[in-house]
Parts: sequence; C-alpha cells; structure tokens
Amino acid sequence: MRLARRMERLGTETAFEVLARARELEAAGRSVCHLEIGAPDFDTPDFVVEAACDALHAGFTKYGPAAGDPELRDAIAAYAGALRGVEIDPAEVVVVPGAKPILFFTLLALVEEGDEVLVPDPGFPIYASVVALAGGTPVPYRLDEGRGFAIDPATLRRVRGGIFNTPHNPTGGLIGAADWDRIAGLDLEWLISDEVYAEILYGGEHASAFAHPALREKTILCDAFSKTWSMTGWRLGYGVLPPALAEAVTRLQINCTSCAATFSQRAALAALRGPREPVERMVRTFRSRRDLFVSGLNALPGVRCAEPRGAFYAFPNVSGATDDAAALARRLLEEAGVACVAGTAFGAAGRSNIRFSFAAPEETLREALDRMGRLLG
Ligand code: PLP
Repeated sequence: MRLARRMERLGTETAFEVLARARELEAAGRSVCHLEIGAPDFDTPDFVVEAACDALHAGFTKYGPAAGDPELRDAIAAYAGALRGVEIDPAEVVVVPGAKPILFFTLLALVEEGDEVLVPDPGFPIYASVVALAGGTPVPYRLDEGRGFAIDPATLRRVRGGIFNTPHNPTGGLIGAADWDRIAGLDLEWLISDEVYAEILYGGEHASAFAHPALREKTILCDAFSKTWSMTGWRLGYGVLPPALAEAVTRLQINCTSCAATFSQRAALAALRGPREPVERMVRTFRSRRDLFVSGLNALPGVRCAEPRGAFYAFPNVSGATDDAAALARRLLEEAGVACVAGTAFGAAGRSNIRFSFAAPEETLREALDRMGRLLG
C-alpha cells in the first residue's frame, strides 16, 4: 500500500520509540531506569479517580458536546484565567483529548501552504512535525544554553505565526516578560503558547503570553491536565482560542474525535475543584529530585547541565564526554540500561545534549547516575 506523500512530512516523538525499545530489553530480563518519557510517575490523585468512577456509574459514557462539558469549560476559564491574571470567557475554551490535539487542530486550521512558523530549537518535536504536515515551513529559533536556555532574540524572525513553550521541554527554561515584549515586537499574526508545565516551576514566576496586553488577542493557549494532575493517560487537554478559531477547532474535533471522553471531563472538573495539595506535593518532590539529579549530572566527567527552572527534564550537554551525543544516548540504553532521549530528537541545536526526565523515583535517579558514571568512567 502506498502512503500519501504528506506522510513524508510527518515526524514523530522519539521518546515513544525509546520506551518501546526499553520495554523489549526488560522483556528480555534487563533492568532499565526509565528516564525517557515525559510523564509524572505519581498516581492521579484519588479524588480525581473517584470522580471518574462516579461519572461512569452516573452514565457519562456517551458522546458529549463537541467543544466540551459546559461546566468544565466554565471551570477551565476560571482556573486558567486566575493562573495568568486575565479574564477568559468559557466560549473561548475547547476541550480535547490532551494538549496535542490543540496543537494539531490549531495548526491545521491556521497554516497555509508555504507559511513560515517559528518553532523552538531545541523544542518539542511535534511542533515542526505538524507545521510541516499542514504545509508550512518550521523556522527554528535558538535557545541559548549559556543563559539557562532563554530565547536567543537574534534568531527570532518576523514570519506569520509562532509556537512558544514555557516552561520548556526539553530544557526546563522559561520565557520571561522581556522575551514576550520582544515576541510582541515581531508582530506575528498568531502564536501558540504551550503552557502544559505552567504549574511545574521551581521558584520562578510563570509569565504567560496571555498576560501580555499586545499578545492576548492573537494567542492560542494550549494546556492540559496531563502533567499537573498526572493524568497523561486520561487524554484531557484544552485550548483557549479566539472565537472564530474555537469554532474551527471544534469542527475539526467533530471530524476527528467527536469529543473528549466524557467521564475524563468529569474527572478533570474534580481536579480543578479539589484540593491543591497533591499538585504542590508533586512539584516539591520534583524540585528535590531536580537538585539531586542535576548535581549528579554535573559531577559526571565531561557533562554539564544547566539548572531547569520548570517542567521535569534535564538537558545536559555531553560534548566534554563524546562527539556523538546520540550514540551515547543509545549506549546508555543498550549497555547501561538508562533510557533517555538524544538531544537531536528535539532539533539540530540539541546535537550535544541528551534529555532525561527526572519524573522518576529518587532511587531510580541515583541508580541511573551510577550507571552513567560507570559507562563514562
Ligand atoms: N506540549 C509539550 C511541551 C509536552 O512536553 C507534551 C508532552 O510531553 C505535550 C504538549 C503533550 O501533552 P498531552 O499528553 O496532554 O497531549
């Protein structure tokens, strides 16, 4: 069977391939430290699971409104607005199965053949992949490792649209208010602000494109329940979009998934209304794991790691240990049993780096550091 030509433009997310290989090694009896996939290792809070069970028993097992459960859209508007200090109208909110469908549907709705779209390099690989699928050309802007992976303004260009991510995967860097001023100066027609890690911060402030007066009207906010409430498998995310785009994205959803799972939406409502303690505890735990893991990385020969300020990834530069970081990432998995992702999976600028997720138990992080030390030593 011949695949359509457009499939040549579609990339992938290497973390899932590494996970599959790691599972094969485990099936063959090998021990693997899983630091590849971007999912909190915490359970979804009990009260959220209970709300889903109640919803299933109450009959939330059928289709629901395409743009999302109205009560959930209200709650998201209130929550997402309060987090960023802005007013959000529930009519701007569209609920979808995860953050990824917001990226996918929005880019399909906005990108014309030949449009140039700014994407971070390094950055979440799905951005460039979907821009290209939609017929656009990804235009990478660089993040400066020497400045904690802040945006290098010299590499920003005035094009049609742009995608920004703060806190950032894979580097843990943040976009600050001054960066948003510079981005506003580019006069883009639209921008997507992917803020799925907005609540996973280690001391800094979350500056949102939505809170910038010159950007609010042209920004598509992309967020999800996946990371904050450890709900990656529930597939629940949302966009906050200008009304015409919200209608287009809802129409794409009707054509693609009809709606997000209705019982997941009731669980998400409980997450927003419930106690904050589980989220706060998770972030505190990530912070101490970050400190442990990053100082462990910096003690390894030839490895230097900038301190992540948000999200739960470390993105060390390994150029002092090897000329071929991608080969080292492979050896870490195959020889040492440490599953990680080569920096090249996030763009050309990641060629000297490897991404590790530190959303893993402390003993796994210590074991991974020992194994890396033995391989590098
Ligand atoms: N955006 C970023 C920056 C991510 O890191 C991820 C997942 O790793 C996503 C979006 C996708 O989130 P979801 O699982 O809610 O689709």
